[in-house]
Amino acid sequence: MKTAILGGGLSGLTLARLMHEEGQEVVVLEAEAEYGGLCRSKTKQGFTFDTGGSHIIFSRDAEVLSFMRRMIAGNEQLNNRNTKIFYKQQFVKYPFENGLSDLPPEDRFLCIHEFIRTLIAVEKDELAPPSNFREWIYYTFGKGIAECYMLPYNEKIWKYPTDRMSLHWVDGRIPRPPVEDIIKSAVGINTEGYTHQSVFSYPLDSGIEALVRAIAKPIAPFIRTGFRVTSLAKSGEEWHISNGTEIIRADQCICTMPVQHLLPCLKGVSVNVQNAINALKYNSLVCVNIGIKGSIPPVSWLYVPDHAVGRTNRISFPSGYSRNVAPDGCGAILAEITHQPGDEVSRMSDEDLIDEVTDMLDKMHILKKDQIVYSSVERQPFAYVVYDLDYQKNIALVREYFTSISLPLVGRFAQFEYLNMDGCIRSVMDFLSARQP
Ligand SMILES: Cc1cc2nc3c(=O)[nH]c(=O)nc-3n(C[C@H](O)[C@H](O)[C@H](O)COP(=O)(O)OP(=O)(O)OC[C@H]3O[C@@H](n4cnc5c(N)ncnc54)[C@H](O)[C@@H]3O)c2cc1C
Repeated sequence: MKTAILGGGLSGLTLARLMHEEGQEVVVLEAEAEYGGLCRSKTKQGFTFDTGGSHIIFSRDAEVLSFMRRMIAGNEQLNNRNTKIFYKQQFVKYPFENGLSDLPPEDRFLCIHEFIRTLIAVEKDELAPPSNFREWIYYTFGKGIAECYMLPYNEKIWKYPTDRMSLHWVDGRIPRPPVEDIIKSAVGINTEGYTHQSVFSYPLDSGIEALVRAIAKPIAPFIRTGFRVTSLAKSGEEWHISNGTEIIRADQCICTMPVQHLLPCLKGVSVNVQNAINALKYNSLVCVNIGIKGSIPPVSWLYVPDHAVGRTNRISFPSGYSRNVAPDGCGAILAEITHQPGDEVSRMSDEDLIDEVTDMLDKMHILKKDQIVYSSVERQPFAYVVYDLDYQKNIALVREYFTSISLPLVGRFAQFEYLNMDGCIRSVMDFLSARQP
């Protein structure tokens, strides 16, 4: 039984490795010259940057976390999270609700007052339950926290109107501290939120790619890079997978590449299913990597909700995660800008993006321009799945179709779910255990 795995990102590689360990014959077909997908990293001039945005290793899932940490054993730095939100020129503790005492007094009052007012209104059944993400934000946090942080930040990262986003996904993904913690944080008693992430790990050497390289090590001979799947068809019981010049034959096929890339490979897909795939929303990402001489702030990463500060939604400081990702005496800064495919940001030159980001960092007093010794830009067409109001209807159609042709979808853009690395590995593990006789 030979299995072809389409896509060699974290999901495809983990799937291949675990199947290989079960004694199965696998081949991973990856379009790019290097495997790893969003979990790749590049080292230049002594600076290592993750190319798919800054990554850290954390999870609530003990089995998956221990798998990831086992993979990078001996090459791991453990870190305490010190994440902030850049709010009115100040660093406010993250999650925002746990950092209320860092706010100017008027904003602190607004946030806590509106939070309590909303809580009472909900208790008295005076507020209609939310029907979209925007309403959920107001309903859960009140107008103060919503308008100071939650709405501007979420509008910035998703690049999609929050009142047209669904709310089925928020539990577990958006920190929701207990009432007691919010009140404590407003009066200045220290509380921690999103605690399963308060200690995180990161590879000492080679960035996040060290994780996928370690996973791929025993299956290296079975990975075909530079193989962009362009067509996929069943001939009898066999799958024929082609890149336009060569055909790979397999008894089964599992897709971990974006479902939007899979669609043009197939013939005979109904218009309904085509429309459903084309209606799935996602955004893209630009990463601006800056290496500086000198030190970085003692912050893990910084959320930037304010549109006036710049287009950047998040700034990470990877040289705080691993002492080996920047030369001695230097610091690494990674600014992430999400955007819509084909929009103004996607048309900006690397030089303009670097100028814009370094201007912003200078104004934020994070660097002075004469400290810069390295800069580069990375672009990712697929960054985040965006859950619009039609998502559940569309994805149900898509999944039903791929189940009907026995072509399983596993991974972030194949399943089309907002999965972090742990979620991808969990999906792989669950997929394999569901197939056991
Ligand atoms: C900005 C950002 C920050 C993140 N931070 C974290 C974090 O801190 N911690 C965390 O746990 N997770 C994080 N994630 C999530 C993590 O990156 C993903 O969960 C994970 O990398 C998804 O892996 P995947 O294999 O499912 O998909 P991908 O990495 O997208 O892999 C899909 C692969 O398919 C290949 N492919 C596409 N088309 C074809 C084709 N036609 N033929 C062959 N191959 C093809 C692609 O080249 C790619 O290699 C972050 C994601 C982003 C965008």
